[in-house]
Amino acid sequence: MNDDDVRSVMAVAAAIDPYMPAADDDVIAVWVAMLHDVPAKVGAPAVHWYYRSDAYRDHRRTITPGDIFGYYKNAAKDWRQRRTAKEITAARAAIEAAPREIPSLSVLFARYHAERKGADPDIAEGEAAARRLYMGVACPHPTCRAQPGQQCTGYTGRPLRKTPAHPARMDAARIQHA
Ligand SMILES: [Zn+2]
Repeated sequence: MNDDDVRSVMAVAAAIDPYMPAADDDVIAVWVAMLHDVPAKVGAPAVHWYYRSDAYRDHRRTITPGDIFGYYKNAAKDWRQRRTAKEITAARAAIEAAPREIPSLSVLFARYHAERKGADPDIAEGEAAARRLYMGVACPHPTCRAQPGQQCTGYTGRPLRKTPAHPARMDAARIQHA
């Protein structure tokens, strides 16, 4: 808001509130200093909002630039939240619209076995899906270099025991499917 914007906001307030101070240069300078980064279009709605608020009905205090800034800050937060909510809705719609992955046989078997053993089928399905991903790429680990479909092997040439695959291979699978 510049001088002219502040002058018109103060005129709106003066029309509502007989105690509104006269818009002399000193007062206007203070208002502009406080409201220079507030858009001019916020001014009149802020005044209307203030004089209709419960707070004003309680204390009957004449509006200050602080009240207008407070209104602007809250309104800006609302706009941001509304935009975020819109973005989340759009993202959800995109996920819903995306074609669903058809579970592979290995994934279905993993679920079946997990259910039979009383384990969590979701975890089993996740593990099977991850296995399918990293088994689909070659392992970049220098001493292993397992080809797609082959298991990772350690220094001795035997399959790894502590982890299902070299971390580098899992990374490679993630990057390829990202
Ligand atoms: Zn490997």
